[in-house]
Amino acid sequence: MQGYRAALLRFDAGDVLQRVDDALVIVDEGRILEADAFAAVAARHPDVAWVDWRPWVLAPGFVDTHVHFPQLDVIGSPADGLLPWLENYTFPHEARFADPAYAAAMAEVFLDELLRNGVTTAMVYCSSHRASAEAFFAASLRRGLRMVAGKCLMDSNSPDPVRDETATSLVESQALIERWHGRGRLGYALTPRFAASCSEAQMRGAAELADAYPGTWVQTHVAENHDEIAWVARLFPQARSYLDVYDRLGLLRERSMYAHCIYLDHEDRARLAASGASAAVCPTSNLFLGSGLFDFGAAAQAGFQWGLACDVGGGTSFSPFRTMLAAYEVARLGALTLAPQTLWYRHTLGAARAMGLGSQVGNVAPGYDADFIALDDRATPLLARRSGAAASLAEWLFSLIVLGDDRVVVQRVAGGVPLAGF
Ligand SMILES: [Zn+2]
Repeated sequence: MQGYRAALLRFDAGDVLQRVDDALVIVDEGRILEADAFAAVAARHPDVAWVDWRPWVLAPGFVDTHVHFPQLDVIGSPADGLLPWLENYTFPHEARFADPAYAAAMAEVFLDELLRNGVTTAMVYCSSHRASAEAFFAASLRRGLRMVAGKCLMDSNSPDPVRDETATSLVESQALIERWHGRGRLGYALTPRFAASCSEAQMRGAAELADAYPGTWVQTHVAENHDEIAWVARLFPQARSYLDVYDRLGLLRERSMYAHCIYLDHEDRARLAASGASAAVCPTSNLFLGSGLFDFGAAAQAGFQWGLACDVGGGTSFSPFRTMLAAYEVARLGALTLAPQTLWYRHTLGAARAMGLGSQVGNVAPGYDADFIALDDRATPLLARRSGAAASLAEWLFSLIVLGDDRVVVQRVAGGVPLAGF
C-alpha cells in the first residue's frame, strides 16, 4: 500500500466536482483503496506510508476519447479542410507505420506526449498496418496503461500505401483482438476509419467482429466536414444520413465512439442517444481544419453521451487544458456557457462514461484504477497570480483551463505505478 498526501480533486457520489484541501489517497494493488480527508484516512491506516505532494492537487488522470497515434508528426499541418489535409499530410505520414521499428519508436513518443499532458486513458486510432497496432499495444502494456485502440480499416478510396484489403483487414483485426483485448488493461476497438474509406463488406465485417467479441469497442468518424458528407452521400445513396450509413451496418451501438458529430440532424441525434453510442467532441481539430462547431445545446437536448478529445493531428494540442478552453469558446459561439466543472467532467469521468469505463477511470475514489496526476497551480507566474486570487472552485478551475498546459502536470501515476522521466 502507498499513500499520497495532497489537495484532492474528485467527483462525489452525485458527480459534483469537489476539492478537498488536505487529503490522503491510498493505493493498493493498482486500485484506489481510500481517497478522503487526511485526518480520517490517516486514522484508519496509521501504518501506511505516504509521500507528500503538498501543495499540489491530486486529480483524476484525463481521458481522451479520440486521438490518432500515427499523426503525432502531422500536428500543425495546414490545409484547405479535411480531405486535402488527409491526402497531402496524413496518409503519406501514416504510410511510414508499416515499418514495425518506426511504429515502435513512435509509440513511445506518442505515449510520452499523452502522459506529459496528464492523459492516462485514450481511445486511439492506429494506422491501417497491423504493425502499428502491435507496437501501440505492446508499448501501452509495458507501461501498465488502460488504453483502447485499433487498427484502421480502410479498403476503399485510399492511396495504396495505407489501403488495406477487405478480407485480410478483418482477419488481422480478429488476430489483434485475440492477442490484445483484455490483456493487462488494454481493450480493442474495431476502427473503420470513416464511411468513405470503407466498403460495406468491411464495415459489416467490423460489426460482426464486435458482436463476436463482447466488450470490444467500435470507433469511427461522422459528419465532420461538408465535402466529406457530400462524398459519403454519393457513395451510400440509400442511407438517410451519414450516421445512418453506420446504423444500417450495425455499427451504431453501445461502446461505439463517433468523432465530431458536427452536422447531425434531430433524427441522427435521437438515434445516437437511443443506440447508446457516444460522441467524441474535438474542438481544436474542428477549429484548425475549419470543419465547424459542435452544437453543445443540441447534444444536451438529445441526451447522448459525449467526451472531449484532442484529435491530434487534426487537433492542435495534446493538452486537455487547450481542449477544454476550445470547447468553452465553441460553446460561447453558440451562446452557451459551459461551466468549468462541466468541462473538467467531460475530459475525465464523463469521457470515461462515454467509453463505458465510468467505473474504472475518470475519478479518484475507492475501487477506481489508481490513474491520477498531480497539478501545480503555480506552474507559471501568471497562473500562480490568477489561481491564487480565485475565490471559488469554479474560478480556480478556470484559471487552469485558460492558462494551463503540460507544465501544470507535475506527477503521473498509472495502475498504481509512479511514472518517471517527465
Ligand atoms: Zn480523428
